[in-house]
Amino acid sequence: MKSIYLDHAASSPVHPEVAEEMMRVMTSQYGNASSVHSYGREAKRKVSGSRDEIAALLGCFPDELVFTAGGTESDNLAIFGTLEGLGLQGKHVITSAIEHHAVLHTCEELEKRGCEVTYVPVDSEGRVSVEEIARAIQGNTVLITIMFGNNEVGTVQPIREIGELAHSKGILFHTDAVQALGSEFISCKEFPVDLWSFSAHKINGPQGIGALVVKRGTPLSPRLFGGLQEKKRRAGTENMAGIAGFAKAVQLAVQGLDERRAHYIKLRETLIEGLRHEIGQDAFVVNGHPEFYMPQILNISFPEISTETLLMNLDMEGIAAASGSACTSGSLEISHVLQAMKLSENVLRSAIRFSFGLGNTTQEMEYTAQKIGTILKRLRK
Ligand SMILES: *Cc1c(COP(=O)(O)O)cnc(C)c1O
Repeated sequence: MKSIYLDHAASSPVHPEVAEEMMRVMTSQYGNASSVHSYGREAKRKVSGSRDEIAALLGCFPDELVFTAGGTESDNLAIFGTLEGLGLQGKHVITSAIEHHAVLHTCEELEKRGCEVTYVPVDSEGRVSVEEIARAIQGNTVLITIMFGNNEVGTVQPIREIGELAHSKGILFHTDAVQALGSEFISCKEFPVDLWSFSAHKINGPQGIGALVVKRGTPLSPRLFGGLQEKKRRAGTENMAGIAGFAKAVQLAVQGLDERRAHYIKLRETLIEGLRHEIGQDAFVVNGHPEFYMPQILNISFPEISTETLLMNLDMEGIAAASGSACTSGSLEISHVLQAMKLSENVLRSAIRFSFGLGNTTQEMEYTAQKIGTILKRLRK
């Protein structure tokens, strides 16, 4: 049986060059970057080299980069780190209804601690409106946090416009760019954004490492206390191998951006074309935005069949897809993203997320379309 992985938005395989780099660091550069001996100095050089490399690729200053344990920690640090310094009580935050749970649940926690949060809605294509955000701004609004590109339907948000609006009102702006890196053009200095979250394992890097980019001058209180690492913004011995692997993954993602996008677009078109051929245009609907979308994420509803039935049948054919985000797919809850898009009941209950990676081929897309055709035919009987 074939084995086809179409869940790269949940996690992606480590690129061989990343693994090789990590192996080298784990076995030969194992010092603690805070130690004063030669091993420590060597480790410190390595961390600082990786930091310089990532900063250059992301378009920020090296001292703006805070290494974290991944996207979730970066989101938490961005939100709590700014709010706590400003005093939580009576402050107002604006976010959207379709954020990753790392942002949504953090905002819910803020509410428990005396903050006010507005969750702006999205349209049926998953996009927030800048006017809606403008209307939500109050005198006590201190932070706007809106993701760059959505992990379930791929919709890309008007980040530049939101950032300009925020800054015109003296409000900080954070974006979760975990899914956008390696798919969209990212330059921290070219966008009016104060805080950016990134994660390595969505771009063929290792799990458990990521970064928060904090623009110079942005107030940020630490969440972890201990050593003086990351300029006191995130205590803890540096994840040396993770950082080195992350640097390699960012390099591959940023330098190979055009080829990656072209590859994803080809896969996407092949799968959609294959489905048209196998089951007909009327048997499925693509969820998301027709213009502003990340090509590696393709969310499709097959209204005749429930999400869990199709996922299970695909899994039996060796094809791994998802119902939504990894966190919600364990349970069979309906995705908060699709719900916020106010899709009809049978579209909500039949949505599948296919997310592509470097190793996928157009043949795999044709095969997947064929298998979906077979499954649908079998179930119709
Ligand atoms: C995966 C993901 C995260 C969480 O990142 P981790 O490194 O897994 O903690 C946050 N935001 C988005 C949009 C994601 O896709």
